[in-house]
Amino acid sequence: MASVFSRIIRGELPAAKVYEDDLTLAFLDINPASPGHTLVICKEEYPGLIELPADLIAAVAQTTQRVAKAIQTALHPDGFNIVQNNGAAAGQVVFHYHVHIIPRWEGDRAISYWRPGTSDPETLQVTAAQINAHIDKETP
Ligand code: 5GP
Repeated sequence: MASVFSRIIRGELPAAKVYEDDLTLAFLDINPASPGHTLVICKEEYPGLIELPADLIAAVAQTTQRVAKAIQTALHPDGFNIVQNNGAAAGQVVFHYHVHIIPRWEGDRAISYWRPGTSDPETLQVTAAQINAHIDKETP
C-alpha cells in the first residue's frame, strides 16, 4: 500500500508544500514540533536509510540544505535539528524515507532527544571495531 507521503506526491492528500524538484519534495509537518517544521522526502518510496540508493540520499541531503537555508532567512531560528528516524524503535511512524528539519529557538522545549549515557574507552573501541568490520569498502 502506498505511504501517506506517496499519496501527497500524487496529489491525493493536501500538504503545505515548501519546495519540489524531480527527486524530492519538502512540505510542512502536519503536527509541527516548532513553527516551520519541514519534512524532506524522496519521491520514490523507500522505507529508510538502509534501503535508499546513494544518489537519492544525496538528493535529499541537497534539498535539506536548500530548505534549511530558506527557513533560516524566512523564520530566523536560533538553530535547527535534522532528524531522521529509522525503525519503530527509533520513533519512525511513516515508512517512507524522510528527513525532519526542526527550527529551534533559544528556550523552546521542542524536543528532548536522547539522554547522554556513559561508557568506558575499552567498550567504545570494541564497538567501533565491531562496526568497522562490516563497513562496505567496495561501494562508493
Ligand atoms: P517519523 O516519526 O516517521 O519520522 O515522522 C513522521 C512525521 O510525519 C510525523 O512528524 C507526522 O506528524 C508527519 N505526518 C504524518 N502524516 C502526515 C500527513 O498526512 N501530512 C503531513 N504533512 N505530515 C504527516
